[in-house]
Amino acid sequence: MEADLHYQFPPLIEPSELAKRVKALAGEIVAALGTEPIIVVALLKGAFVFTADLVRALSQQGISSEIEFLIASSYGAGTYSTGQVTMHWLGKSSLAGRRVLLIDDILDTGLTLSKVKEQILKENPASCHVVVLLDKPSRRNVQMTADFVGFPIDDHFVVGYGLDYAEQHRDLPYVAILPPEARSSGS
Ligand code: 5GP
Ligand code: MG
Repeated sequence: MEADLHYQFPPLIEPSELAKRVKALAGEIVAALGTEPIIVVALLKGAFVFTADLVRALSQQGISSEIEFLIASSYGAGTYSTGQVTMHWLGKSSLAGRRVLLIDDILDTGLTLSKVKEQILKENPASCHVVVLLDKPSRRNVQMTADFVGFPIDDHFVVGYGLDYAEQHRDLPYVAILPPEARSSGS
């Protein structure tokens, strides 16, 4: 563990590993897409930290990005799924003819990203690639794959680096499995 850092929870992915992987991901994206400018669509709130790091790594490697934000939430995430995702753009540019990079924190059942990508494709972008920091492939129940994945993980509920539990822990500079004692009773 990085010696100078205080860890509230045992880290699953430490800050140095995140930084190294984000830089490598930017390299993979440049290798696949080239260095023409892109338009990033970042899903709020969870992807805000990853997006901030990734767009700076992309810029270091020669891709400039415009950045748009989309708030997406899915319903029926409990024992059943209605398959509905609501989307709210924050002042969006047209995506027609643009090279879109869709960024989310984590690919879980796949519902959110599949619906968001479907909406984006309706706007006739030149391309739409998906990048996620984390992927839980064992949880998938709709067909959805990301073009670029930071870290595949097992089926754990994780927090930190943008990901929350009840709006807490997004500010942790590392990813951690939420310990049972940090969950409120009854949830
Ligand atoms: P999906 O539609 O793929 O099931 O859900 C994706 C969304 O669920 C993510 O963007 C994230 O907001 C939330 N999510 C899924 N797994 C986790 C997790 O382990 N931790 C946290 N904090 N959020 C998660
Ligand atoms: Mg999310």
